[in-house]
Amino acid sequence: MNEFGLIERYFDWPAPQGVLGVGDDAALFEVAPGKQLAVSADMLIEGRHFFADADPGCLARKALAVNLSDLAAMGAEPRWFTLSLALPQIDTRWLEAFSRGLRGMAEEYGVVLVGGDTTRGPLTLSIQIMGEIERGTALLRSGGLPGDDLWVSGPLGAAAAAVMQRLGRAVLSPGSQAYCDLRLDLPEPRLLLGQRLRGLASAALDISDGLVGDAGHIGERSGCGVEIWREQVPFPREIAELPPALLHEAILAGGDDYELCFTAPAVRREAIEVLALELGLPLVRVGRLVAGQGVRVLDATDVEVTLTRSGFDHFSSV
Ligand code: ADP
Ligand code: MG
Repeated sequence: MNEFGLIERYFDWPAPQGVLGVGDDAALFEVAPGKQLAVSADMLIEGRHFFADADPGCLARKALAVNLSDLAAMGAEPRWFTLSLALPQIDTRWLEAFSRGLRGMAEEYGVVLVGGDTTRGPLTLSIQIMGEIERGTALLRSGGLPGDDLWVSGPLGAAAAAVMQRLGRAVLSPGSQAYCDLRLDLPEPRLLLGQRLRGLASAALDISDGLVGDAGHIGERSGCGVEIWREQVPFPREIAELPPALLHEAILAGGDDYELCFTAPAVRREAIEVLALELGLPLVRVGRLVAGQGVRVLDATDVEVTLTRSGFDHFSSV
């Protein structure tokens, strides 16, 4: 099978009316009047973002999930995506499972594969996702103001705990491990939340590299400092068994949770609490924006704590 046969067999799915998808030199589709196109890309590389033995179906779903999460963080509605693949060889069993997982996930979230690129090389998956958003309503990182509350959309640290377990840094009980593995392998993009936060949140992003580092991005882009109250940061009971140092690392600096982190003025608290009930999501206040710059993490007695790691920086770690 050559490259063209491969594309036709695994990635040429029927495109809906009005979309020119896989098969031509470029895809064509319409953005609705009054809407902006939101575009984001995320690349996953074997050995860095996933383990070599990762299940191809899970991998496909995760690759799409992390892209969907970026659009969630903007408040956008995902519509179309492209897939660029580097494959070391044509492994039909791998491709079969990968494309089945990808197609299932795409159908579940209503996004259409419109094109991509395929080449030989070390296993790399790159997805570019495109969505629509009402002009001028996107949730930017730059909209926060001193005094705004800092919120997260759910418990943090489980994905990091799964990585710790796989690297032999932590031991989880089997039940806890299953939960943490699921959080790592299949993060749930908070699409509905992102869309409903338009008009409520002043700034937002998704937590891919750890709360401290990511909240720091909101601070930087908003020209504010960030205060995080460590004891308020929610975590699942499945990781309560970790030693405190690892637990703190997981919830503050652990990547891969893909919960949303957002800021909002205090007058929005009630509306956000109502939204939490409506969506069945535990939205929790974990800090605030302050005048100044940088991130300070405070313990239960308001004493600043220092971190062993402040999120993963892909160029300085490893
Ligand atoms: P070109 O040489 O013009 O770039 P390609 O041969 O790379 O075209 O691709 C042919 C068609 O297949 C294009 O429509 C392209 O978008 C699509 N395509 C290539 N690789 C993939 C992939 N991995 N997933 C989905 N579509 C793909
Ligand atoms: Mg090409």
